This record gives sequence, structure tokens and C-alpha cells, in this order.
Amino acid sequence: MNLTTMLESTARKYPTKDAIVYGDERITYAELLAASKRAAAVLRARGVQHGDRVAVMTYNSPGFAVAAFGAWRAGASLVPVNHKLAPPEVEYTLGHCGAKVGVVSADLRGSAESGAPQVDWLLTESGASSVEDAASDFDALVADAGEWEGVEVDETDIAQVLYTSGTTSAPKGCLHTHRSITTVAPYISTTLGLDRDERVLIAMPIWHAAPLNVWFVPTMFLGGTVVLMREYHPIEFLKVVESERVTAFFGAPIAYLAPIQAAKAAGLDLASFDLSSVRRWTYGGAPIGAEVARALQQAYRSEDFYQVYGMSEMGPTGTALYPHEQIEKAGSIGRCGMPGVDLRVVRADGVDAAPGETGEIWLAGDTRMVGYLDNPDATDEAFEGRWYRTGDVARLDDDGYIYIVDRTKDVIITGGENVYSQEVEEAIRPRADVLDVAVIGRPHREWGETVVAVVLPVDGATVELEDLRDYLSDKLARYKIPREVVLVDEMPRNPSGKLTKHVLRESVL
Ligand code: ATP
Ligand code: MG
Repeated sequence: MNLTTMLESTARKYPTKDAIVYGDERITYAELLAASKRAAAVLRARGVQHGDRVAVMTYNSPGFAVAAFGAWRAGASLVPVNHKLAPPEVEYTLGHCGAKVGVVSADLRGSAESGAPQVDWLLTESGASSVEDAASDFDALVADAGEWEGVEVDETDIAQVLYTSGTTSAPKGCLHTHRSITTVAPYISTTLGLDRDERVLIAMPIWHAAPLNVWFVPTMFLGGTVVLMREYHPIEFLKVVESERVTAFFGAPIAYLAPIQAAKAAGLDLASFDLSSVRRWTYGGAPIGAEVARALQQAYRSEDFYQVYGMSEMGPTGTALYPHEQIEKAGSIGRCGMPGVDLRVVRADGVDAAPGETGEIWLAGDTRMVGYLDNPDATDEAFEGRWYRTGDVARLDDDGYIYIVDRTKDVIITGGENVYSQEVEEAIRPRADVLDVAVIGRPHREWGETVVAVVLPVDGATVELEDLRDYLSDKLARYKIPREVVLVDEMPRNPSGKLTKHVLRESVL
């Protein structure tokens, strides 16, 4: 199967069923299929050939879906681009992937065109404006084009270049075949028990691996309906869930917490929204503690919460923490791979970690990428035979449940002891004078490394080393306690909001 034949099968089964709901707009499977054939013709007319790459940088809108299925039909691979990227980041991504044609939301054309002027940008959501714009109005061009059946696509053709968040180094482009992307669908639907009646709300950015491949593509595979929210908004989110009878949602933990706050601030009660249609509340990207898990169950009056863990390299399948484990094992990512995904937690000496021990998470399965684009060294480093080494360090509890403790690249080795930077950060974070903190290692001749706390203090505060050491003395073992404090007035974060310690190391060490 490939993504083109996948859409064809679903459209044959459910031609009149809504594939996409976007505000008042309803797009049936037959309409989406026809639009993808016209989009393929438009892309071909702009010079896109089998094996080329098409960048798509949009809000969550039908233009994304039409461009994606059009690109696949034309034999191109899709490069989903983060819509929040600044021009230099656009320049990096577009330069790296070499796309010559792109589809961009009209509101975002500024950063797209200044970052990558070499790309022929087609505008979606432009509401057709000037004569000059009309020539590149993607939606209008698609509406007017004739249908083209496209090229014969092989399941081993590259379907996506998925860029990683760029947390541990510059973003890497994960190459995924049609087979690896379509394989996510059965894995995920088995994991979460999804079916053709699903009405999936996509409110997190659709260019990201999870909304795209865990939700958008699998819903198209099953014949469900995708409800698109252009951008996430806490109160709108509650209204859409209610009015569209949404059955499944995925969001970062904050996407669940924000509506509770927003409703309170607006004098509304979450209980006044009918959210009972939802059977799967899923979250990922960061763990939540037992207290928060309980609060969410209560606020959303549901026990159907799932935590999912994964990464761009796995398309992004990984593990899940199921509803019956939410409270007792809060903070864990589960204890095995999702159906279809093999998992090991491997110690530094290559032996599988036993309960109570720590190791690196390795994953394998048919959704694994074939490698990084133009980066054979990183590919070699990441693969161990069929296994992908995630670079996530995890501890197993007595029952074998997995808890992420750090990134391998962020573990500090001091005097032969491993210090997990995230553990030290969690210990420091509650201080009233600390706004944000990152813990890194400074190379040291004798100790290997020493522990350094980089602190962004609250306005006007200073954080003294002795005071911090005192504060931590009953919270952490001595070797984990920082030997140095560096104050900064800004913490570097990537567009996903993750702390980029490689940038920090360069600036403060
Ligand atoms: P880069 O690979 O460029 O350094 P990145 O790893 O942050 O960036 P992504 O592929 O977007 O790029 O993110 C995957 C990572 O996010 C995982 O390896 C893991 O560290 C973290 N992650 C994903 N899901 C969870 C989760 N449920 N709980 C905790 N961490 C998670
Ligand atoms: Mg990564």
C-alpha cells in the first residue's frame, strides 16, 4: 500500500462521508480524492517530478491535506515544515531538503519567502488577492485544474522527510517510506482501539509527526473524519469537541490544562461543556504526574487517558501508557512497545536493563525511518541493526515500567557517577527565585565533568551557589549537587519549546 492507493480505497468505500471538517467547510472523501488529483496536476505544472520534495508550511487547514495527497500522487515526498519557524530556520530546512516547490498559508508567506526565496511558493488560504498573487494561489489553481492520475508510486518510495525538533543538535530529516507511514495506521489503531467512526480533532500543529502520522493519516486509512482547528485555542477547543462530537484528541499536557484555567477565568465550568463523545484523550511529548492525571480525569470526567511516547525517527510510534495504568504508573511511558513496535532498554554494556536499572531505549519496527537525509554519520550512530537508538535514558521500576530520566547526550558523568540533568533541574525548579533552569556538564580534567546549574532567575533575583547547595543538600546526593551557578537572562529553546542544551553549552561553557 502507498498513501495514494490508501486514499483511493477509503474514497471508494465512503465516497460521501466527511473526510475533513474545517469550520463550516465539509470535504467528503470523493472530493478530497478529486482535489488531490487536481493538486497533483498543479504541482506537475510547476515542475514537480517523481522523487522531488514538496514543502508544506501551513496552519491546520484543508490546503495541507490537499497539498500532501497531491504531492504523493505526483510521486513527490512531503516535507512538513513548522509554521512557527523564523526565516533563518526556514532557510536551513528548505536548503537542506532541497524542495523547489512549496505550499504556504498566505499569512506565513513572509518568513517562507524571505527564508527560502529560491522556492516557488504557492499560497493557500490566500482568499485570492492581487493579480500577481493569483498566479500562485494554490487553492484557486487546484479548483481550476484538470485531474491527473499521477505516477505509479512504490511503497518503498520516500513519502516524508520529517524534521526532528532539533533539541540535541540541528534538526535532522528523517526519511520515511510510504510503507513506514501507512504502517503507523494499523499500529496506532490497534494501540488506541480506533475505528471508522472516529471523529478526530487535530488542534496541535499538523506538520508535527504525531498529529500527522498518528492522527491524520490513520483517520484517512480507517475512513473516519478529521476535524481541523486552524490553531489551538482553549475555549474554542471545548466548543469544537462538543459541537463536532469529537471522539479522539491528542495534545501536549498543556492543551488539557489550559482549558481548565481558561474556563475558570471566563467564569465557565468545564462541566457545562458536553465532552462525553470523546473515547480517547491522548497526550504526549512530556509526562504528567499522578496528581495532574487525577485532576484531568476529574475535569474531563473520563478515565480514557493515554500517554504516548515516540519520535520522528519512528514515524512516531513508540510506547503507550494505558488508562488502567494512568494513576498508579503516572509519569511512566509504559512498559512495552505499541503493538508492532519492539522495545529494549539497554545498559551501557549492551545488556538489557533489569527492573531497577537504567539504560537507553531502543525501538524497532516497520515504522522506523530508513535513515537521515544527507547525514550518514548520524544514521550510523542511530542504528544498531534493526534497532533505532532513541538517545532517551530510562529507568525501569520494579514492575518493569519505563520512566524517562534524561537524554543520553545530557547525562553528566562526574567522578565516574552518572548525573541525570533532568533530575537536578526538577530539584531546583520549585525555588521561588528560579524562573527556568538547565543543568549541564563542564569538562574537568580530574572529574571528567562537573555539574553546572544555568539559572534564569525571576526578575531582579540572584541565585547564590552556597544557598543553592544548601537548598539541595537534603534533596540530592552530594555528587549531583551543582558546583557552579551561571545566571543567564534567556534560555535557548527550539520552536517546539524544548530546551536546546547544545546551544547553551556553546554560549556558557
Ligand atoms: P532532536 O532529535 O533533533 O534532538 P527531538 O528528539 O526533541 O529533537 P522529536 O523527534 O520531535 O525531536 O522528539 C522526540 C523526543 O521527544 C523523544 O526522543 C523524547 O525525548 C521526547 N518525548 C516524546 N514523547 C515523550 C513522552 N511521552 N514523554 C517524555 N518525553 C517524550
Ligand atoms: Mg531526537
